[in-house]
Amino acid sequence: MEKYKTINPIPTFERDAVEIFHDLHRDNLAVTICIDQAVEGVLSDLVVTFESYVSAMSLDDHWHPKAPEYLDSFPTIESFSWPLVEVDESLWLGVLSSSQIDVAGIPKNYRFISLNNTLDVLTFSEPKFNWVKSEQLISRQFKSNEDYYFFLAIGTEDSEQRCNEIGCENYRVSSSRKCRKHHFEMIRGYQPPVSAS
Ligand SMILES: [Zn+2]
Repeated sequence: MEKYKTINPIPTFERDAVEIFHDLHRDNLAVTICIDQAVEGVLSDLVVTFESYVSAMSLDDHWHPKAPEYLDSFPTIESFSWPLVEVDESLWLGVLSSSQIDVAGIPKNYRFISLNNTLDVLTFSEPKFNWVKSEQLISRQFKSNEDYYFFLAIGTEDSEQRCNEIGCENYRVSSSRKCRKHHFEMIRGYQPPVSAS
């Protein structure tokens, strides 16, 4: 049976997380806990970074510790002891073969839990905490991390010509005959969040 150990940053968690995002685009692993908690009067999210990690597994619509069908196998976690716990006797670690685990020893299993998804991380690194302003995390308003990175890669509207969408006053980006917003919409099929542009 898995056992859970509460991990609390400073300041401590005061509410449930809405969503967990993770960024594997770098050598290290950055996990954003979207929690919208007031920290010194500012709505904030928590970014947790690990210098290195062995493996990460996202369970978008899989089990949740509060889901009744799993209460037999997964003990209920007290309110506010999540969104971040360390897992002892990890089921995931138990099913990995020894060749999948680093020869350096047994990594720790951290579990990030939100209302919408969970993320398991196997790592030898200690988590580092960084509260950031929620409104900076516009990435969560995109449908996926890939969409967010695509939007960032479009570039700036530095052309002298207007976007070719009728009625649009914005200028073109260098890679397109459209502005940033309309280029994104043409490729990804929906408008980017207003706060992103
Ligand atoms: Zn446009």
